[in-house]
Amino acid sequence: MGVPLRQSIKVGAYMARQKLAGRDKFPLIVELEPLFACNLSCNGCGKIQHPTEVLRQRVSVEQAVAAIEESRAPMVSIAGGEPLLHPQIKEIVEGLIARKRFVYLCTNAVLMQRKMDLFKPSSFFSWVVHLDGLKDRHDEAVDREGVFDEAVAAIREAKRRGFRVTTNSTFFSNDSPKTVRSVLDFLNDDLKVDAMMISPAYAYEKAPDQDHFLGVTESRKMFTEAFADGHRKRWRLNHSPLFLDFLEGKRDFQCTAWGIPSYSVFGWQRPCYLMSDGYAATYKELTETTDWSKYGRGRDERCANCMAHCGYEPTAVIATMDSLRESIRAMIGTH
Ligand code: SF4
Ligand code: SF4
Repeated sequence: MGVPLRQSIKVGAYMARQKLAGRDKFPLIVELEPLFACNLSCNGCGKIQHPTEVLRQRVSVEQAVAAIEESRAPMVSIAGGEPLLHPQIKEIVEGLIARKRFVYLCTNAVLMQRKMDLFKPSSFFSWVVHLDGLKDRHDEAVDREGVFDEAVAAIREAKRRGFRVTTNSTFFSNDSPKTVRSVLDFLNDDLKVDAMMISPAYAYEKAPDQDHFLGVTESRKMFTEAFADGHRKRWRLNHSPLFLDFLEGKRDFQCTAWGIPSYSVFGWQRPCYLMSDGYAATYKELTETTDWSKYGRGRDERCANCMAHCGYEPTAVIATMDSLRESIRAMIGTH
């Protein structure tokens, strides 16, 4: 099981409270992007192409905490850009943990060892290290030699200090079931990270490399083959069983983009962190002024190949909550 029991119970209770209160739209996790600047320039990135004046902007501690409070989300994933470049990242993390939010701090790990002293191990805190493959594959994806070794060293040091460490791996069309297995086996068995997140890459319009994004059929085939022979069950994947079924094509879902919304220097992004059709000042305004029926596969061309967790994990989690069988399967970690 990739998610600690205490966190699963708290998030389950939050979901039940939303249902009881009759709220039809509520966030599960907020993708907080406190800056778009980064110290790497990955080929598949859709964030660092903003103009310089935008790359210089920062979400303040007060704005970050107020946005999460207003949304009521129980979990926050701090991404970017590279969040460790934010001069007040420590205060943002502390402010959210003080309000009992489960914080995932995403990083490319280049600054992780240098900044590790800013944070303390906590059941409310997890590092999320971006690792797309083993050494050659990862260094190629981030377009800089040596980043894989830095990330591995940082993960080992964080584990030594008692931090919870999750990883996030994005797969492209130059991946295969073999490369997926090689990196997930390494993270699961050698580095012994606490949990792993996986995703087929989303084809950002702004990403410089447009040739390596997977289609839905290719993604399903790749994950089905990678998960076979007991791998899916053995890996500590940080996803619901239904989302993994979705990746394999055993289940299909519609997108629930309001479940994992994004807040950045522009405000609340419409409809999700992958696409930008304008912004709202509050989560309430975002949910009330967005025509959600326009988005998802089969509805918007830009969504055609999307299987991203920000759109489909909330659907899978809600379907899990609505089914006793799926709830039991998720609780006991039957992947
Ligand atoms: S590390 Fe993340 S934010 Fe930075 S360039 Fe790579 S994908 Fe973009
Ligand atoms: S399918 Fe949903 S999550 Fe994916 S790009 Fe479209 S709106 Fe965003």
